[in-house]
Amino acid sequence: PVGPYKWRIGKCFVKPKGGFEMNVEGLIYADQHLAVQIIAELKSSGSFLPALKQVANVACLPGIVGSSLGMPDIHSGYGFAVGCVAAMDTTDPNAVVSPGGVGFDINCGVRLLRSNLKEGDLYHNGDPKRLRKLATALYDAIPTGVGSSGAYIATEADLKNALKSGMRWCLESGYCWLEDLECCEEQGCFKDADPNKVSSRARKRGMPQMGTLGSGNHYIEVQVVDEVFDEAAASAMGLEKGNVCIMIHSGSRGLGHQVCTDALQVMESSGVKVPDRQLSAVRIKSPEGQNYLQAMAAAANYAFVNRTLMAHSARKAVTDVFDGDARELGLYVVYDVAHNIAKVEEHRPAEEGGPTRILLVHRKGATRAFPPGHPEIPEKYRGVGQPVLIGGSMGTCSYVLTGTHKAMEETFGSTCHGAGRALSRSQALRENDSNCVLNRLRSSGIEVRIAQPRLAAEEADVAYKDVESVVATCHEAGISKKTVRLRPLAVIKG
Ligand code: 5GP
Ligand code: MN
Ligand code: MN
Repeated sequence: PVGPYKWRIGKCFVKPKGGFEMNVEGLIYADQHLAVQIIAELKSSGSFLPALKQVANVACLPGIVGSSLGMPDIHSGYGFAVGCVAAMDTTDPNAVVSPGGVGFDINCGVRLLRSNLKEGDLYHNGDPKRLRKLATALYDAIPTGVGSSGAYIATEADLKNALKSGMRWCLESGYCWLEDLECCEEQGCFKDADPNKVSSRARKRGMPQMGTLGSGNHYIEVQVVDEVFDEAAASAMGLEKGNVCIMIHSGSRGLGHQVCTDALQVMESSGVKVPDRQLSAVRIKSPEGQNYLQAMAAAANYAFVNRTLMAHSARKAVTDVFDGDARELGLYVVYDVAHNIAKVEEHRPAEEGGPTRILLVHRKGATRAFPPGHPEIPEKYRGVGQPVLIGGSMGTCSYVLTGTHKAMEETFGSTCHGAGRALSRSQALRENDSNCVLNRLRSSGIEVRIAQPRLAAEEADVAYKDVESVVATCHEAGISKKTVRLRPLAVIKG
């Protein structure tokens, strides 16, 4: 341990396979209990290496600077652990980009809509009449499930425009409001996107899936602001205790998955030597590296569009149930932020007077958390810091946090992205019964709409770590700050 919430993986503790050396140390953020859970992963075998070994392997990648970072919600994933942050120095000619450092669901992320509705508006004498109606309306309006399709009929030209322009395409097509763009990371458009770098196979998979949720961990929730921790930040976000919100968690569907698959195939033959095959990587400056980054940005734009179309459907569902106008009901976007992405950013080392470095920051299951005053966050959040949106699990609370200066100094402006899995999908399936899980949710008053009820076992709350500990760790370590806690009223799952 290096402080109450930080654990160092020294270069002398781990010997990665194949004679590789760690270029930097590993640094994990966790409290005692989370650390025990993370270490326990070393003993259970899955299809991926345990997260701690993955952090050590990532530390061997060429061009990595600072530390190979693990957030408190870290767990093993494809190549890079989910909850990993790795920053590469773009001025180092050997520095690499790795698709495993972004993940298969490119720009998987979270969007939060607020409203003027109060919790009481959803109930009539204790009967959740309107909550039920709203849950059903959301479930009917937004296709869910693995291969879900058909929310929007898009042409080839629409898809190309969406991949190129992200939310600007949505604005031009009447699917969102101008002020929505301001409240999204990158205003809902990654500028480097090149739709021509996205294979026709990927486009074919993505075409029918625009505006669909997908399955598993993806969800739409009706939530209520349960507690306010930071009045100033909450007020800047239009969040008061008792306000009803809608949280949307989804990504780039089959299109992003195919972009990642295509890139891995290229990199497995042309990539640099790495300690784990799943860490396939190429030099950032190479044609393969640039092709991947441009295709990744296009897939990221698809994800922004996907969440925008779902938000559009959600606004319609709410206005139908409450018979009002979306603006009058205050259905504004609080924020939309990615947690699976690689971005070129300027960072200054902690020591005063050091030069600014241009880094490629991989965030895989980690959220950007820029501090107050940062030029890349919306004007209205400049004083409080960038909103960070954190899912808990089915039935537990979620959080809104803000970015901090300490995150900028220590984690390249990054923090956690959720509670993080504690059990693998197969373990969760073995240890839980879907009907029990669903009954437990219902008896605690949560409306559940789930496309494949048997997924409930895989997605049970006990399959995830304790979101309270994860958030407390980030808050206490100073890499983000608690704004509000959100309690679930209804959950819609794929
Ligand atoms: P991931 O993007 O890594 O698949 O998932 C992000 C996080 O979402 C998970 O670590 C978990 O904490 C959270 N999550 C998964 N399912 C649900 C859900 O049904 N509701 C909420 N609020 N959060 C969830
Ligand atoms: Mn995802
Ligand atoms: Mn996600």
